[in-house]
This record gives sequence, structure tokens and C-alpha cells, in this order.
Amino acid sequence: MPNPELPLPVRKHLLDAGVSTEAPFTRRVFTNRDLAFDSMKAVGFDMDYTLGIYNQPALEALSIEIGVEKLIRRGYPTRLETIQADPEFAVRGLVVDKEYGNILKMDRHGYVGRAYHGRKLLPRPERKDIYRAQRVGQERERFARVDTLFALPEVTLFAALVEMVEDHPDDWSRTPPSYTQIWTDVREAIDESHRDETIKSRIKDQPAAYFHKDPDLAPTLHKLRSAGKKLFLLTNSYYAYTQVVMGHLLNDQMAIYDDWSRYFDWVVVGSQKPSFFVANRPFLEVDRRTQAHVGKPRDEPQKGKVYEAGNREGLERALGVHSDEILYVGDHIYGDIVTSKKTASWRTVLVVEDLEQELEVQRAHELSLREIEALAEIRNEITEQLFAEKHKLRVLERLGGEVADEDGAGEETVQAAARGTLGDVRARLDRLQQHRDELEAVLQRRTATVDQAYNRYWGSIFAERLNTSLYGAQVEGYACLYTSRVSNFLYVSPSRYFHAPAARMPHRGRA
Ligand SMILES: [Mg+2]
Repeated sequence: MPNPELPLPVRKHLLDAGVSTEAPFTRRVFTNRDLAFDSMKAVGFDMDYTLGIYNQPALEALSIEIGVEKLIRRGYPTRLETIQADPEFAVRGLVVDKEYGNILKMDRHGYVGRAYHGRKLLPRPERKDIYRAQRVGQERERFARVDTLFALPEVTLFAALVEMVEDHPDDWSRTPPSYTQIWTDVREAIDESHRDETIKSRIKDQPAAYFHKDPDLAPTLHKLRSAGKKLFLLTNSYYAYTQVVMGHLLNDQMAIYDDWSRYFDWVVVGSQKPSFFVANRPFLEVDRRTQAHVGKPRDEPQKGKVYEAGNREGLERALGVHSDEILYVGDHIYGDIVTSKKTASWRTVLVVEDLEQELEVQRAHELSLREIEALAEIRNEITEQLFAEKHKLRVLERLGGEVADEDGAGEETVQAAARGTLGDVRARLDRLQQHRDELEAVLQRRTATVDQAYNRYWGSIFAERLNTSLYGAQVEGYACLYTSRVSNFLYVSPSRYFHAPAARMPHRGRA
């Protein structure tokens, strides 16, 4: 196996010299569905959070600052000004319970594994009380899913406001608004700041403060082009913003490309995904200089020009490839991945930047993670035994006439024999119970340590306790491949065959 620990500059050198090298372990591409990279004739990219990785703490602070301003203008208490951004609190895959003011993390079956009221952890009994039923989160009016990184500041703001209502109800001149109303107001304030461009105009003024510039991005796009793939940009951002961001990321990166747009054969902005995949809007040409629409609306885009709106079928015709020869790279599980998969047969790559930290924690805590797995297995075995012994005890108690039973106790000799064994069974039950409690305590300590390393509020975004999280299940269900950033394809041969690990149902495991 190639040494994955070669320093990056050495690796790049080898790569340039045509020696294939293994990607650093945090930058690998993972496979959910088999995919022949060779058969992908076109590769498309989303822009926000895909080609352009935001500096999340900076963006979150900006969104909160602007959101707070708008909420205060709507009559919210000025105490709101004191709230702090907390980039660790809001993560992807959470669900907001607007009715109770709670923020939830679920496992793949919709079981609520953790819940915060505001930013206070709900104790287990309370959580169980509210979320006894599995598969909560289906009612759209009550629950909101947090599936884009743009939406994270909304969650932080909402949690802070829930706390304010609890701790300072007098800040409101009248009765404080309901949690549902607060969620609506927060969403509207943030939506408005995106719509009226307050957020984007600040980013446009200072792109360097809001984006991580990845020096591997341009070489990666170049490598894909050189391998004969057609590249396209498909973003919901409009041209004015797109050109600043893309210019910041790609201009002056490689001498053979004098402008960012030259990396792409087709550029579609303001695409209104996910409806781009199903609706039938025409392509409107954008004049790059005046940013105005020019010419007649077209059914399909032309190479080398910039278009707004458009639709999937027209783009596919322009690309001249089959739907399943298109690989689309995006970060939004619904807008980019689920819809393109369900309505077209585009193959998909999900960019999840959190993956790098996830893999680092996994490596650093490898022994603890193995220990947790082993302990959980023993705990489950003991639990099974415990339940079997409890049942045995109940039967013996009835038989021994210690518990009133409508069938009556057994015969006298059987009764005596049953009573004789009761002591042993009770002692064994006690030992099992004690062993289980001890194990549970160690398990909880180990899990807490590892969770803390992932994220002190939520643990890993891909897992909930020992199960896959709801978000993890979506990633698994819809993304053919997933990786932490676009430039990880620099380490991938254009003819690579991606093999998915074999997944089996429980009855098909090893006998
Ligand atoms: Mg995006």
C-alpha cells in the first residue's frame, strides 16, 4: 500500500511527474454506488460551498449580524445584539421542532437521539416524553430540516431567541412570540438579507475574507478537462455574484486560462435548482459586461456563453451526452443531489467539508472507537441474558407460589424445588445487572470523549450513538460518491473505477 503520509508538496511533485500517489487520508473520495469515472463524459459543478468553500465562522458571524439587525427592526428586543455566533452549535442534518423550540438530531430511522431546547440539552426523560414516537419530523408545518450550510446561522439565532424567551420574557413589551413565530421571523430575516443582497454585497466587497482559496482547485479542473471531460458550472447564484466568486477562486491560478470562465464549456447561473431539473424555463443569455439579458431566450445553451435560468433537458442536449454520463458535484443534499438523482439519472458527488475533521477525529480516537464497538457488543449480549433471566425468575416465582397467579402454583414438590433455585437466579440477575451498569458507564464515558472531539453538542454529523444519523443515511442513499472538496479529484485517475463496499441485510451476514 502506498504510504499515505507523504507530505503534500512531495506528493504534488510525484503527481506532476506522472507518478500516481495516494490521496491524504482526509481527502479521499468515498463510494456509495459503483461508478466508472471513465464513462463520465461531462462533469458539472455547483458553486456555493462546492467550488467555493466559505469561511464558515466569518459567514455565520456576518449572517447573524445582519439577521439580528433585521429582527430588531421588526420589534425584537435589543438584547439580541449580545448573541454570539457559535459555529459548532448548528450543523448539517439537524431538524428544528418549531412548536417546542427544540433542535433535534435523529438517527436513520427518525429516532431522536439528542435534543436541545434553545442551547440547553434536554434530559433523556423529557426527550423521551416528547419524542416517543419514531419517525418524527414528517409534518412539514412543525419540523424544519437544516440541510444547507447557508441555513446554519438561522438555527443559532433561533436557539438564542428560545433562550431569551425563557430567561428574559420581560424584554418583550407584550407576550413573547411563540417558537413557531420566532422561527418564521428568523427565516424571513435571513431570507430577506439574501434577497436584498445585504449578505452577498458584503461578501462581494471582500471575497478573500469569506472564502478559503484552494490552490488545488484550478489544477483539478484542468486535469479533468485534459482527460477529455466537458465541464459546466450550474449555480443558483446570479451572474454578478458568480463572477466575483469564481474570479476570486480561479483567475490568476494557471497561465493558460486567462479567465475563470475558460475552465468551463457551459456556464448557467440563477438556475433555480431543484426546479431546474424538472421545469422547462428557457436559457437567457447574460451579457458579461453589462450583466443584462441579450438575445432571444433559447431552448439550449451555447458553448462559451453565460446563461441564466434554463433547464436540465436543454443542457443535456447541448452537452450531447446521456443523462447517466453526467457527474454532478454539489453540496446540497436536496437541491443538488436528491433531485438530480430522482428526476434525471445524473450521477452525483456530494461535497461535505466536515468530512476532513470527521476523518481526523476517527484516526485520533481509533482505539476508543474500537473499544466502544466491542463494549457495545458485550453490553448487548448481557442485556439479552438479563431479559432471559428476568423471565426465568418470573416463571419460577409463579411456580414457587411466591406470586399470586390465576393458574395457581405448581404441585408441592415442584413448588419447593422452584423456591430452592430462586436464590441462585436472583444472585445471577444481580451480577448481570451490575456488570451491565458498569459497562454502560464506561461506554458513556468513552462515547462522550469521542463525541466531544467531533462536536461538543452533537457528536459526529454522520452518526447518532451507534447508528447512522439521518443525514448520514441521506448521504448514503443519494450520493454516488462523497468527499470533502472538489480538489480531491486531483488524486483520482480519470479512468478510476469506484467500487462501493458490499452492503448486506442482517440475515445475509457471515453465518
Ligand atoms: Mg451549494
